[in-house]
Amino acid sequence: MNFADVINFLQEKSTDDECPSCKTHEWLLEAAQEGEIKHTPGLVIGNIKEDDAAYSSVTFSARPTITMVCKNCGFIRLYSYNFIRDWLKAKGGVA
Ligand SMILES: [Zn+2]
Repeated sequence: MNFADVINFLQEKSTDDECPSCKTHEWLLEAAQEGEIKHTPGLVIGNIKEDDAAYSSVTFSARPTITMVCKNCGFIRLYSYNFIRDWLKAKGGVA
């Protein structure tokens, strides 16, 4: 998956690139490295048993994400890396 793949995905799926926080339209696509997109553990998911006040039973996993940051206010927008990967595969692209 490269930078252009993500841009194509956003253009097809997202009709509004306005920042919900500051209303500007300039985003930084993070983790872009020489055209190759790297996913990050942008969304951490914690599991905890009921009545565990000490949080001793907490286990974590992470959902791989593509991260965009508003260049004006820093608002963070996340997309599922796996969702974009599957969209790309369905279109016949290489993920
Ligand atoms: Zn903003």
